[in-house]
Amino acid sequence: MENKLFLYNTLSRKKEVFEPINAPHVGMYVCGPTVYGDGHLGHARPAITFDLVFRYLKHLGYKVRYVRNITDVGHLENDADAGEDKIAKKARLEQLEPMEVVQYFTERYHKNMEQLNVLSPSIEPRASGHIIEQMSMIDSIFESGMAYESNGSVYFDVEKYNKQYHYGKLSGRVLEDLMTNTRDLEGQDEKRNPFDFALWKRAQPEHIMRWPSRWSDGFPGWHLECSAMSARYLGETFDIHGGGMDLLFPHHESEIAQSVAANHTEPVKYWMHNNMITINGQKMGKSLGNFITLNEFFSGDHKSLAQAYSPMTIRFFILQAQYRSTLDFSNEALQGAEKGLIRLMNAWLTLDKLKASEKSTAEVASVRNSCYEAMNDDFNSPMVIASLFEAVRIINSVNDGKESLSVADLQSLRETFNTFMGDILGLKHEEAASAGNETVENLMGLILDLRKNAKSAKDFATADKIRDELAKSGIAVKDTKDGATWTLD
Ligand code: ZN
Repeated sequence: MENKLFLYNTLSRKKEVFEPINAPHVGMYVCGPTVYGDGHLGHARPAITFDLVFRYLKHLGYKVRYVRNITDVGHLENDADAGEDKIAKKARLEQLEPMEVVQYFTERYHKNMEQLNVLSPSIEPRASGHIIEQMSMIDSIFESGMAYESNGSVYFDVEKYNKQYHYGKLSGRVLEDLMTNTRDLEGQDEKRNPFDFALWKRAQPEHIMRWPSRWSDGFPGWHLECSAMSARYLGETFDIHGGGMDLLFPHHESEIAQSVAANHTEPVKYWMHNNMITINGQKMGKSLGNFITLNEFFSGDHKSLAQAYSPMTIRFFILQAQYRSTLDFSNEALQGAEKGLIRLMNAWLTLDKLKASEKSTAEVASVRNSCYEAMNDDFNSPMVIASLFEAVRIINSVNDGKESLSVADLQSLRETFNTFMGDILGLKHEEAASAGNETVENLMGLILDLRKNAKSAKDFATADKIRDELAKSGIAVKDTKDGATWTLD
């Protein structure tokens, strides 16, 4: 059962056996959000992917220290070294203090994560709380000769680094190609080369988030926070670094360069990247008009959405694809996920009520084994789900009296479901009665129609009975001039 866990390492481009540096301890760092807007599917996928990894490693008995940061300073527009800080820009537009923006969107992000049943990381450090660590890392990079100062800003000398190491080994890029493909951009004339990246930026007079340093009043470059904070909490070399594929270059590539230059050691043993989500085959983007936040998914309040989708439907939808595959959102795909999830959840409830027989006619040991095999093969959640669906068939068949399960087999199947559905996939039962749930809306419409008919026929006893019975179930009916409405108490 507990065979070896294989995971795909972006650095070596192959599946490797997972052997932690200091077992049973595991250090895992995942790039978290830049908090200047509501979370969307692009935030949900890495959060759920690495939640799955976190949950499974803990299930296998590892003591995992999971660090997922909050970027609250230094992430400039277009991920470039020029342009406005994303949070400062939002603050300027909304006439808020940048930290008010950070507080507001961090709380909303946490709420979304809780709704998606994503476990809290062990540590959630913020870039602005680790300015000292970032400055001291710049000092170390200076000592190795890989940094230079220019007009109060500090840049990483990529060409010099590349003479000794390989800048591009993670993303498979070659510096010579980068040199020919990069044109000079406005505001980059301080750099020796356009592909050099900022370690420290001198703040423009209007820039609010700034700290004094010996180079200038300024702020750290975006890539630096992850190198500094991962080293601070997990050591100079740790096990797993994760994030979305969009962060592979230049963010993670530059993290490696910074850490190697500062600490003279490879920072990460296994690099893991989840693939992207597209919407109807298109990249998601505010300018493309297909940008849907998680809150909009949960409420259904977006022109592209045919209905509301519950947090567990979103979670299940994401887990239905292996994390390295692309995943395309469409209403059809999410409706399919919703149906599948209901089938699984109903079977899970039925499983609790099944009665054991003398002996089994169905084979259930293989379900558990194939779930482990799937997880051990680079966290193959769709294969786990396929095995659970095989079990659904058995559960329904036993429930119909067509097959039977012994006490031991029934117990084993319950354990398999509790472990894989609950602990590892992190799926849970949701309140069926929520506004926006189509079935509930339809049922309530039917009940209120029956009450209206009773009232029209002057059968007030029935009308009142319907209202009182609903009240007992926590549903308040209110008569308005436009007819009756209902709310959940
Ligand atoms: Zn990062």
